[in-house]
Amino acid sequence: MPPGPTNPPAPQDPLPERIGQLYFRVALPLVGAVLLTAVPDARPGSLRVLLVLTALTLVTALLHALLPVRWHDLLRRTFPGVTVAFVLGVALLSGPGGLPGDPQLLTLTLLLTPATVLAWTLLFMDEPRTGRLYGLVLTGSAVALLWRWQLRGLQPQLTTHTPLLTLIVCLTVVLYGVAFADINRRYRDGERALRRDTLTGLLNRRAFDEQARASAVGSWALALLDVDHFKGVNDTHGHTAGDRVLRAVADVILDVLAGQGRAYRWGGEEFALLLPGPPAAGSADLTVRVAGLIEDIRAEVARRTFTGGQRVTLSAGLSLSPAGEPLQAAFERADAALRRAKADGRDRVVLAPAPPRPAQTP
Ligand code: GH3
Ligand code: MG
Ligand code: MG
Repeated sequence: MPPGPTNPPAPQDPLPERIGQLYFRVALPLVGAVLLTAVPDARPGSLRVLLVLTALTLVTALLHALLPVRWHDLLRRTFPGVTVAFVLGVALLSGPGGLPGDPQLLTLTLLLTPATVLAWTLLFMDEPRTGRLYGLVLTGSAVALLWRWQLRGLQPQLTTHTPLLTLIVCLTVVLYGVAFADINRRYRDGERALRRDTLTGLLNRRAFDEQARASAVGSWALALLDVDHFKGVNDTHGHTAGDRVLRAVADVILDVLAGQGRAYRWGGEEFALLLPGPPAAGSADLTVRVAGLIEDIRAEVARRTFTGGQRVTLSAGLSLSPAGEPLQAAFERADAALRRAKADGRDRVVLAPAPPRPAQTP
């Protein structure tokens, strides 16, 4: 089942952003610096080309460093476009009466093209089609430039097979870049699936345990919910009907929670809800709000008749942690409250008593 609309959003893949940082903050400034050192040796004809390329590289790197993060995406889309237009412009202007050949420009084209094609493919690993398109367009432009130089006899060092070889190298690089992006996507999908319950789409026990480890102490509201007499649903209506009820209960939880916390399927017919508590956790305000939310879930489940005519109820234990209580301790208190709810007749929410205050040191 696809995750419900109010499931917590999947965490962003940090790799494209990291690759962007590496490209714009490290690679581009270094390339720009090297281009700058080549300026004094440049022949008059190619000086303009070199200067424009250096400026394009360094200004883009600077803009990436200065602009707020929300502009970075625009930068990563415009820079390849401008670069390709530049390469095509050089190709068009190369010829007698235009830009002359220059061994320096030839070396730069041969070295920078495959590296840039790879960088661009990886830069768009979250949008493989765009990355592939930019990589291929740059490959085509650079190969066109090389062919033009060769046909016009502008680069004596250029051998007949160089444009073709450049084409093959760049296409191979695009394929490797796209394959790497695909592996990363599968890895991310696998990571996400590991933390999702396949039946309900909620987060699963593994995600809960990880959360517990990551936030050993904190301030939160933790509710444990258990469907009452659920074995009876399976025994009377069959396990498929039981599964349907579990999915419907999960939907109710997500609807009522409306993104205010995280919902986990902790075990078979048991759910855990984790809501962040403000610093003043345990305050009357928070108690009323969270207890009201869990009560709403309980009431909604009790009110519904599920497809197939089943009706079920929920019991819940709720613990509100003062800041600094280990999640495991909060869990045990919620669990004890849940047992109390069962013992008191089910179909109810029981609030766990506050934990004993740690002894004051004199
Ligand atoms: P109580 O009110 O005391 O919680 O009683 P209960 O019947 O709900 O609890 P019990 O632990 O006896 O039974 C839980 C049942 O949940 C047993 C198991 O078959 C069922 N169950 C666990 N996971 C699934 C599942 O994924 N699908 C279905 N259909 N049933 C499940
Ligand atoms: Mg149970
Ligand atoms: Mg049960």
